[in-house]
Amino acid sequence: MGILDEDVARVREAADFVAIAGQFMQLKRVGRRWVGLCPFHGEKTPSFSVNAEQGLFYCFGCQKKGDVITFVREIEHLDFVGAVELLAARTGLTVRSTDKRQDEHRREKQRLTEALSAAVKWYHERLLTGPDAGAARRYLRERGFDGDQVRRYQIGWAPDEWDALARALDLPDKVLQAAGLGFLNRRNRPQDFFRARLLFPIFDPQGAPVAFGGRMLPGGDGPKYRNTPETRLYSKSKVLYGLNWVKDEVVRADEVVVCEGYTDVIGFAAAGVPRAVATCGTSLTEEHVRLLRRFATRVVLAFDPDAAGQAAAERVYEWEKAHTIDVAIADLPSGEDPGELFRSDPDRLRAAVEQAKPFLGFRVERALAAGRLDSPEGRARTAEAALAVIAEHPDELVRDQYVMAVADRCRLDADRLRAGVGRGNRPRVAAPGSDPASAPGTGAGRQRDTNESRALRLAVDAEKGPEIQGLLAEVLFPDPLHLNAWRALRDAGGDLHAAVEAADPAAAELLQRLAVQDAIDEPRDIRRALLREAAVHCRSDLEHDARHAADPGAFVPAISWLQVQVEAIAPDARPSQDVEDQLLAWLSERAEERG
Ligand code: ZN
Repeated sequence: MGILDEDVARVREAADFVAIAGQFMQLKRVGRRWVGLCPFHGEKTPSFSVNAEQGLFYCFGCQKKGDVITFVREIEHLDFVGAVELLAARTGLTVRSTDKRQDEHRREKQRLTEALSAAVKWYHERLLTGPDAGAARRYLRERGFDGDQVRRYQIGWAPDEWDALARALDLPDKVLQAAGLGFLNRRNRPQDFFRARLLFPIFDPQGAPVAFGGRMLPGGDGPKYRNTPETRLYSKSKVLYGLNWVKDEVVRADEVVVCEGYTDVIGFAAAGVPRAVATCGTSLTEEHVRLLRRFATRVVLAFDPDAAGQAAAERVYEWEKAHTIDVAIADLPSGEDPGELFRSDPDRLRAAVEQAKPFLGFRVERALAAGRLDSPEGRARTAEAALAVIAEHPDELVRDQYVMAVADRCRLDADRLRAGVGRGNRPRVAAPGSDPASAPGTGAGRQRDTNESRALRLAVDAEKGPEIQGLLAEVLFPDPLHLNAWRALRDAGGDLHAAVEAADPAAAELLQRLAVQDAIDEPRDIRRALLREAAVHCRSDLEHDARHAADPGAFVPAISWLQVQVEAIAPDARPSQDVEDQLLAWLSERAEERG
């Protein structure tokens, strides 16, 4: 029930951490490391650090850490096998399973993806060149879509035939059905799922096709929209149309626009807002929010305003809190469809996103606008309606600000209104992951930077590691934590990943943290500093022993010899390598004698 160890190692080796993490966040090079805003907790200054050579990350804010597989697991919400499979697909490797059924399962998914890719191509070709696709092409042109857009979004046409795709692709019945492309009709013949529809292929965030959204042309027969049924690859409550194209821009802007239709997504991009995605015929779900949160902290809903306002307010506030996101509502003109507006007034569409209002603010505004403020009775009723909306918000401080605004607009006493929105005062919780005291890469702050940690930092560095590993010894690590980490690294022959796996949790934590910090020291300088510390320490031990010994004189030669050594390796001295090696050997031997 897993993947062969050697295959896991190959995948880890082949995966480019910076490129993979770069899909979810911006990473900036600092020295030999990379840093960025942690995708796992909310923060304003970067705590997330990457050692690209070793393929490791560590967050100084939330202490999340691990290798590229851990990263993909966490960010894609996958299990270990799923994460390795995804990385394997990205790096073009094939992994073997320790279980035959798993291999079969993986091949099955692969077959479905291939079938869908073939269908995307076939339908697209049909739209571009099919003599029967004239009306579809005309419809797109009339809606303002040009050839570039049709190609970019790989829009297709399902002809008005029973089984044109099934015959053209000649897929096994089982694959045709499992991919949601067709079914067996009453005469047990394969039949296409889509007929006489414009098709918008839907991709997963990595760009693999998972389904189609089918739109009827005006005057057609049947429901306006029809989507691929739920399949192994496609679950409409989890997939968002367009994310594969816009995710980079969404990360850059830290904002995503959520609209309702496929053409809205294309329209937003055309109007210069290339960060819109669409739900596929459902309302926004928590799974959608969780997916979007990996890319941005601000979600702008660009639905028809009334529908957006109704979108279960309670849930939106819960999502805001649970996922540390802000939800806003685009200021769209009432009754206008973004897919139309991008043509008639692209500036207005852009402004709608720029002037998006916080979810609660939008709803309060609507309640006030709907009321009559020209009489005391009207103002009281309007205030009541607005307060009912405000009362849904869980945060007292937020509620209070809106209460004051309503009091002002309705010319009522704020204190009296406040009493009406008491909601069992939920205390305000500090945002999770407040920025850490320490800056990444410096090692300052939470942990004191000792010579021991500086030495280990060098030892886990891909470039300087081999040199310093040969210079270190157990006796140079008096601190048990650092000693354990050093032992794990040494016993793993310098292989950081193996050391992290073998070490106890605290030592593994230390190794991973050090691995994402820049190793700026000179190996020889650090070794000498450690050596000096060990020698000074040993000398005080000897002095202590001498004071309590029957024959203190027996300690004198060792104490004076050590004193000479300490001076010989002073920071400004230039001792030969031999002096240092000799001292280290002596200290090691003595440590062994004392157990
Ligand atoms: Zn973090």
